[in-house]
Amino acid sequence: MSAVAVNVEEKLFQNRYRVDAGRPHIQIKDPEICANDCAQKSCTYVCPASCYKAEGNGSVTLITDGCLECGSCRIICSEFTNVNWEYPRGGHGILFKFG
Ligand code: SF4
Ligand code: SF4
Repeated sequence: MSAVAVNVEEKLFQNRYRVDAGRPHIQIKDPEICANDCAQKSCTYVCPASCYKAEGNGSVTLITDGCLECGSCRIICSEFTNVNWEYPRGGHGILFKFG
């Protein structure tokens, strides 16, 4: 049986996202904890949509546009529980298309 190559970027491109402007459904509770206490900053590695970004000054920024609602960031931040996580309001967020 031959292996079938899957292009993740191509699959993600199939999705559509409706932004809820000004109402991010995930928020970092205390940015100071990210900057001063969390050495690993695992959210910046685990998020498949690259919503979390480690900045040069040690801080972490979060932009939820394109979030896949996988919940990984909430789990990976269990040591600090520094993530407020909700699903987007109805009609917003990710629309999965499998093509
Ligand atoms: S894992 Fe949690 S505490 Fe650490 S940088 Fe990410 S959101 Fe901040
Ligand atoms: S729920 Fe998943 S895709 Fe959304 S920000 Fe968290 S890790 Fe990234």
